[in-house]
Amino acid sequence: MNVQDYKRRLLDLETQLSTRVDRRHAGAREQAGESVRDAGDSSVADEDASEAFTEAELDAAVLQQVRDALQRIDKGTFGRCVVDGGPIEPKRLEAVPWTPYCAKHQRLLEAASRPRTPSL
Ligand SMILES: [Zn+2]
Repeated sequence: MNVQDYKRRLLDLETQLSTRVDRRHAGAREQAGESVRDAGDSSVADEDASEAFTEAELDAAVLQQVRDALQRIDKGTFGRCVVDGGPIEPKRLEAVPWTPYCAKHQRLLEAASRPRTPSL
């Protein structure tokens, strides 16, 4: 595993996400008071203002995970599950480099809380 490659990807993501979060929060404030419709298929380029707040919340959640992952790189624990310290599957890291959990613990957590899957 090339940690520096992941670090670059995570730093890029952090920049993209924080820009989007800032922009979306600005847009969402103007839309406050309007009901939030069910988010269908939205793309980054074609933002529906009524979806801006939920999307911003999702981006903010991923952004936090990206920052946590960057801290794990600095501490030398990147690529290990934060629950049991075991290795995270390379394919998982490739797809979701900010994940703090191995597949087993991700499944346990999803069974407990059913979070939405970030689409990046
Ligand atoms: Zn684990």
